Amino acid sequence: MDRRRKETLLIALGGNALVRKGQLGTIEEQFENLRVPMAQIARLSREFKVVITHGNGPQVGNLLLQQEGCKEIPHLPLEILVAQTQGQIGYMIESTLDSALMELGVLTRQHFVTLISYVVVNEKDPAFLHPTKPIGPTFRETQVKDLLYPTRRVPGGYRRVVASPKPVTVVEKREIRKLIDMDFIVICCGGGGIPVIREGRAFHGVDAVIDKDMVSAKLAEEVGVDVFLIATDVEGVALNYGKPEQKFLRSMTVTDAQRYLDEGHFPPGSMGPKIEATMQFIRTRGKLAVITSVEAIAAAIEGKAGTEIVRD
Ligand code: ADP
Ligand code: MG
Repeated sequence: MDRRRKETLLIALGGNALVRKGQLGTIEEQFENLRVPMAQIARLSREFKVVITHGNGPQVGNLLLQQEGCKEIPHLPLEILVAQTQGQIGYMIESTLDSALMELGVLTRQHFVTLISYVVVNEKDPAFLHPTKPIGPTFRETQVKDLLYPTRRVPGGYRRVVASPKPVTVVEKREIRKLIDMDFIVICCGGGGIPVIREGRAFHGVDAVIDKDMVSAKLAEEVGVDVFLIATDVEGVALNYGKPEQKFLRSMTVTDAQRYLDEGHFPPGSMGPKIEATMQFIRTRGKLAVITSVEAIAAAIEGKAGTEIVRD
């Protein structure tokens, strides 16, 4: 195949690619879980230039919990914890993908790079006025008064809430494009990216979490992605999800997706951002957008699984 004509595929991995519901989330479990998507991505990398983004919910939650248990060492702000998870998850993805490629018999060493990525947000984003995204451990009511950050009532107690502002731009977009052109598999924008605010020519980190699906759509637009796949823990997108009349869709147009979103079929914080991200991708320049399970990544690229979001 002519390498210059390879299309670029962006795969956004959900948190469950590393930690499945009901698991403790040991490192052994995370490595084992990653074999499922990585075996498929290894095969796809022969056909596509590949970019991988990923969530970090369980990992950043654990780091926060570890901090709460230790009073002796100064607390690290959220931006530092996001940077840590980009490193740890990037390493796990690289080494699992490397093994998967070797199992496939790919002898020429594939090049990988995990890029610590920051993403600019707007300090006037209305999301900063109303933090909505619960993160980290669940606290008892008696513990809440000692906490230095806003919390919200959730089933079983209280959780810290942070703002989830819109991604404005990925700071390393040019570097990422260059690495893709050089045939590197790029792992970037982990955990939605490290959220930063621009101050003149400098950046400084803020306490916020950017949605990994929304940043993936922004990245896709900025580096020119052809195929955008979101891998999660459901086979695709359903209407009336979780109700007796639930119905999974094989495809929907952007106009239908917007209507279903308005009708409340896709809640904020779970399916909502995946729909918004894929709609934005198709509206800008994308060729194919599909939402599917981690098990069905390869099948979805072949049009045999998942839900495609298509132009009207
Ligand atoms: P990820 O970690 O992959 O981003 P999320 O939990 O944020 O995963 O989103 C996936 C979840 O969205 C599914 O597990 C499912 O419970 C939920 N969901 C909500 N509405 C729908 C819908 N209409 N169709 C399919 N799944 C839905
Ligand atoms: Mg999510």
